[in-house]
Amino acid sequence: MSFRLILAGPPGAGKGTQATTVSERLGIPAISTGAIFRAEMASKSDVGLEAQRYISEGNLVPDSVTNEIVRRRLAQPDATQGFLLDGYPRTLEQISALDQMLSETGLSIDAMVDIEIPDDEIMSRLLKRASIEGRADDTPEVIAHRIEVYHQATEPILQAFRDRNKLISIDGLGTIDEVRERIVAAVTQRLGLN
Ligand code: ADP
Repeated sequence: MSFRLILAGPPGAGKGTQATTVSERLGIPAISTGAIFRAEMASKSDVGLEAQRYISEGNLVPDSVTNEIVRRRLAQPDATQGFLLDGYPRTLEQISALDQMLSETGLSIDAMVDIEIPDDEIMSRLLKRASIEGRADDTPEVIAHRIEVYHQATEPILQAFRDRNKLISIDGLGTIDEVRERIVAAVTQRLGLN
């Protein structure tokens, strides 16, 4: 069986952390656009240099660039088994692009899992992460802007998946293990795996 899932939620919701373990449990690769961009920035590739201008200011990388890196990643052999997308789609235009990529092979998204946390929790988690990981986009000003961009550009995509009856909302407060178990339980139930 192959599953195509999206992990959504505001910055700091724990998408990256959860994507790794949840994808292992389900036996599908986790694909993180944020991680791909960070690798591209580290190698100073053309895509990396372009992405850096947006990421360092807390803005979204343009859809054309992001859609292209996802298109290439989904064409890799491991993604034919299904996948867990972390941090993509984040705009309505990215949803259309993803729908288009999948429809070429007659496929579609099975569910979007939205990890919910309040804004004040986002800020305190990201400031804490900044002191540990030193990510350049984790300064207070850039975090505040990312939260704003999230509400403006990304929150509307939740409604799109709610309309399709594909949205699963998960309470993101609690320990990493608690949140992971909530996600796995909700997904396995929704996909009829148990
Ligand atoms: P977070 O969810 O904490 O913001 P990510 O690692 O998912 O962290 O993303 C970091 C940055 O990478 C984002 O602020 C954005 O600039 C860029 N990015 C990641 N995914 C996308 C996307 N789907 N569309 C546009 N930009 C993206």
